[in-house]
Amino acid sequence: MLVKNQIYEAVVTDYTAEGQGVAHVEGCAVFLPNAIAGERVHLRIEKVQKTWAAGKIVEILEKSPHRCSRECPVAKLCGGCDFWHMDYEEETRLKAERVKTCLNRLGGENLTEVPILAAPDCRGYRNKAQYPVAAKKGRAYAGFFRAGTHDVVENRRCLILPEESDAVKDAVIDYVNQFRVSVYDEATHKGLLRHIYVRRGAVSKQILVCLVCNGEKLPKVDALLSRLQKIPGFTTLVLSVNTKKGNAVLGDKFVTLYGPGYIEDTLCGLNFRLSPRSFYQVNHHQAQRLYETAIEKAGITKNDTVLDLYCGVGTITLAMASAAGKVIGVEVIPQAVEDAWDNAKRNGIENAEFFCGDAGQAALELEKNGVRPDVVVVDPPRKGLNADTIEALSRMSPRRIVYVSCDPATLARDVALLKERGYRLTSTAAADLFPRCAHVETVCLLSKLKSTQHIEVELDMDELDLTDAEKKATYQEIKDYVLEHSGLKVSNLYIAQVKKKCGIIERENYNKPKSEDAKQPQCPPDKEKAIKEALKHFGMI
Ligand code: SAH
Repeated sequence: MLVKNQIYEAVVTDYTAEGQGVAHVEGCAVFLPNAIAGERVHLRIEKVQKTWAAGKIVEILEKSPHRCSRECPVAKLCGGCDFWHMDYEEETRLKAERVKTCLNRLGGENLTEVPILAAPDCRGYRNKAQYPVAAKKGRAYAGFFRAGTHDVVENRRCLILPEESDAVKDAVIDYVNQFRVSVYDEATHKGLLRHIYVRRGAVSKQILVCLVCNGEKLPKVDALLSRLQKIPGFTTLVLSVNTKKGNAVLGDKFVTLYGPGYIEDTLCGLNFRLSPRSFYQVNHHQAQRLYETAIEKAGITKNDTVLDLYCGVGTITLAMASAAGKVIGVEVIPQAVEDAWDNAKRNGIENAEFFCGDAGQAALELEKNGVRPDVVVVDPPRKGLNADTIEALSRMSPRRIVYVSCDPATLARDVALLKERGYRLTSTAAADLFPRCAHVETVCLLSKLKSTQHIEVELDMDELDLTDAEKKATYQEIKDYVLEHSGLKVSNLYIAQVKKKCGIIERENYNKPKSEDAKQPQCPPDKEKAIKEALKHFGMI
């Protein structure tokens, strides 16, 4: 048993998902902030739990060649970044390794290497900032939360943000201090200004400033505007009303105080409208590479229908539109869906449709209405796909699923679930959209196994050699009848499944649907009904 406050010697072997080093001492995993794999250290145990312990490095006995001095002066205190103590080579190595380990351990894969799209620039890449505001002795300041707390660490110049973003923060803080605008205090739930939110178009250079307030009115807006207007690119000022307790940054109500209330930016050659609530990847250059990779993996052709689940403002949907016959986006936030429609219009894209709702429920609904996409793209939040989405994917049975993920662990879980439903992981790439921070994006291609196709080919052959029980109608006749009378297209497999249910004996090794085989798609109820009607019509049941 490890003893708190005692010093131990250990070698750092691995990293946690949050980017902390892991060393093993007396069989127990010890998590060490700011440690690098390969380093031999003296560590002090700070907390002991049943299966793990938390420690701190007291001395580095053997330094990693990847260790470097922190360029960011507040890196040790600020909870924003994780990796200023190591070089970028080690950071990208550990990110690719994390994706590989998750897919192998949780996804049942056996990958030897996962490539990573490394970022060409670790500085100034973030096009969105949310600075919490605090006050001490009557002076307001802004920065970022210290890791695991809501203590605001003042950050005068954040290296991963563009200078313009910090200039907005400084202008707002200057205004707050001059006009004694009150600052929100979580403990008392009093005070006005909570967060300064800044979004800047990487290409357009337009700036949206959104002040999150515990109230509906800001004093002296003119004085604030005259400060903001000195910053190149300043386009619009929005007030977000958030009077609720809790961690959510933005409130539900938005009041535009100046300008259009949104900005524009160009991504993958398209023009996008961005409101404060719309999701838009923070690293423009790397997001573009991620989307290009996703489009390449999707292998879309002109006749394809593409379904983009969790589509945000339609970035991936619209970037795929020109290659596809039709694209459909699904997104839960109404404002983002509005933006997505507007984005289609402003780019003259006419083969795109958007639906507002939960991805899983909407996909099940689309499936019920006969939508059968050839390619489905999913880009869910960290919790990954829900059961409805997995079920809808399984029923729609697209040729390809392109999975864009921001959490390798839930990605790997979902890959395992999709493999049970007849898919195979055919290619994987990690992408670094958050240099200096522990998050990593992944894009995977899952392809439908050929097994059902294989069975259908056999079924077609079998039609030439019908057994007595089946003489009444061929598969094609049943298909034609169903299409004519219900407008539904049904596969040989579905017909075989319904026949089996109705007790029509199929020849061994041929048509027999392996209904116990979870990899096969199962005939949905509406089609089953239509097939039964056809079987009745032909006097087979
Ligand atoms: N593909 C987009 C957005 C990805 S972020 C892009 O790259 O720009 C994930 C998106 O999923 C967010 O826009 C979020 O609002 C949305 N979302 C979260 N939960 C959802 C759900 N249950 N159903 C549909 N969309 C959801």
